[in-house]
Amino acid sequence: MSEMTSQSPAWSAAPCYLCGRSTHHVVANAGYSFQSCVSCGFRMQHPLPDPADDEGIYGDEFYADRSLDRGLDAQDAVNRSLIDQRVHQLTEVNGGPGALLDVGAGTGLFVEACVRAGWQATGIDPSAAAVRIAEKVTSAKVLHGRLEDVVVEPKYDAVTLWDVLEHLSDPRAGLRRIAGLLAPHGVVAISLPNVSGLKSRLLGKRWRYYRRDFGHVSHFSPSTLTMLLVQAGFAPVAVRTSGLFNLGKAFGLNPAEVRADHRLLSRMQAAADAAAGGMGLGEDLVVVGRRSSP
Ligand SMILES: [Zn+2]
Repeated sequence: MSEMTSQSPAWSAAPCYLCGRSTHHVVANAGYSFQSCVSCGFRMQHPLPDPADDEGIYGDEFYADRSLDRGLDAQDAVNRSLIDQRVHQLTEVNGGPGALLDVGAGTGLFVEACVRAGWQATGIDPSAAAVRIAEKVTSAKVLHGRLEDVVVEPKYDAVTLWDVLEHLSDPRAGLRRIAGLLAPHGVVAISLPNVSGLKSRLLGKRWRYYRRDFGHVSHFSPSTLTMLLVQAGFAPVAVRTSGLFNLGKAFGLNPAEVRADHRLLSRMQAAADAAAGGMGLGEDLVVVGRRSSP
């Protein structure tokens, strides 16, 4: 896509992907424009990115640059606790461990945690680099491929999409495909950044997830993600936001240091997180939906 195309005055608003009503243009960074729905607030990149651009974001360079080649036991306390919470929540929703597919499994940390908790878990990831690391640092099975490549029989009890759905150019089609991979009462669990969270509201166009290098096509709130789930044949089971600012940052501390060594700050952080989450203003949005249509 050329700069000429993206900056053309002939830019026109398409109807909202989610509800079909009219949209307006909200962010126009170089080559990267969004439409925001005047009715439901859903935001989607327009025009949609070239799928070839997407390949670049999580290619070899991404996995080489970020020292992601550490296994589950080498993760810091914050990351471990996030993974454990997710496994625990799914085990509760499913009434025990079952068969699980993690789409966009990356280096396999979540799949490994699921296996340790008794799940029969498999991951799939389009990045060959991620799959190579998974083979090295986990015993988890992570296949190289895309959601479209998955064929399964019998069906899964749970499919997880951690920071994946916002990258798809047709998220409804992706969720419908997942509905077809699930057992009749199977669940899908999704996490992504909350566009109606406090950070996005305060920062406006400067919210980090509008940056091109994140490759986020869609920006969901608790209500728009719930709408999409329903359209794709799921009934929402849980919708939750969490996480706010890292209060320790002002003192040069990372979240793990705050938690380990600073009791007062740690309690303040927990209170701030709980307050933001309770108001739907947290930065991280997690929803779980149960398959409701055959
Ligand atoms: Zn809409």
